[in-house]
Amino acid sequence: MSTISSKLHDVEATIRAAAEGAGRAPGSVRLLAVSKTFGADAVLEAMHAGQHAFGENYLQEALDKIEAVAQAAPGELVEWHFIGPIQSNKTRPIATHFAWVHSVDRLKIAQRLSEQRPPELGPLNICLQVNVSGEASKSGIAEDELPELARQVAALPNLRLRGLMAIPEPESDPAKQRAPFARMRGLLERLRAGGLELDTLSMGMSGDLEAAVAEGATIVRIGSAIFGARHYDKGNA
Ligand SMILES: *Cc1c(COP(=O)(O)O)cnc(C)c1O
Repeated sequence: MSTISSKLHDVEATIRAAAEGAGRAPGSVRLLAVSKTFGADAVLEAMHAGQHAFGENYLQEALDKIEAVAQAAPGELVEWHFIGPIQSNKTRPIATHFAWVHSVDRLKIAQRLSEQRPPELGPLNICLQVNVSGEASKSGIAEDELPELARQVAALPNLRLRGLMAIPEPESDPAKQRAPFARMRGLLERLRAGGLELDTLSMGMSGDLEAAVAEGATIVRIGSAIFGARHYDKGNA
């Protein structure tokens, strides 16, 4: 049976190979380990194998886990990323307990995160979630509304807009996986050409990480390839 540690190292090797294949520097892609539905013990096991950035979708589950990990590994540096749907009445704990939020798709949410970010923690890193699958997805800002939202979010004081995030519709044919990621790359380039200093493309999951890296992903969000199949998943509509 393969352990979290060995699966983590396999994923790291896959990322390195994909980066090299695309002529990119091996260190140019960060691995975010998506630990949703897995317990603090799984996070601690990954930490012992050298992983320090974790993604969570469900707020209450995440807060319990953050607390449990802090108690079990006091003083250890752990970077928590919120990657799930955000309810506007739940922004304060997100602004307080996370270093990154990848799933911002409305100005109101960004404004609340900025107002509620404790200044002593420094700016909260933000990615705007883009809907690259059209009607099929309810989450994410439409591509034509992205430039305006990006300008507004970049102007908020306690946030640092880093880039874009997407969850394309699952596509098992590797030849077809690259198209939405290529579009994302184009969207980021256009925003940068418009004067925004952005450095992040958060894209690629267990089933399509190589395609995402080939198209310029700087953070891949990997769950099941590290932790195994999830026993429950409320989905990410
Ligand atoms: C669950 C999830 C992931 C990880 O998915 P896997 O297919 O298990 O790698 C990545 N990003 C988001 C937003 C998720 O909800």
